[in-house]
Amino acid sequence: MVEDCPTCGHHFERDHGYWIGAMIVATAFSVVGFLTVFVGGLAVTWPDVPWNVLLLVTLVVTGVVPAITYSSARTIWVAMDLAVRPLERHEVERADQNLKRT
Ligand SMILES: [Zn+2]
Repeated sequence: MVEDCPTCGHHFERDHGYWIGAMIVATAFSVVGFLTVFVGGLAVTWPDVPWNVLLLVTLVVTGVVPAITYSSARTIWVAMDLAVRPLERHEVERADQNLKRT
């Protein structure tokens, strides 16, 4: 992911530790993946649930989903943050400087 928006010059990482919010979004995706596979697996196979297979598939999905959705999670996090906390004056000035540099 680029550090600054090529269109408006916005510097994405607004604070130290900014991307923790994106990790929370990715974790939410992981929880949704877990619940979908686990509850779906239970619903489809009940009452003879293959517990070992369900455990393996659930673990793989829970681990893979945040890895493949992390860039989307970052984009969603930036949009959520900007909706709640608009740019401050110094950030607008920095964006203008970024655009002049390119
Ligand atoms: Zn932009």
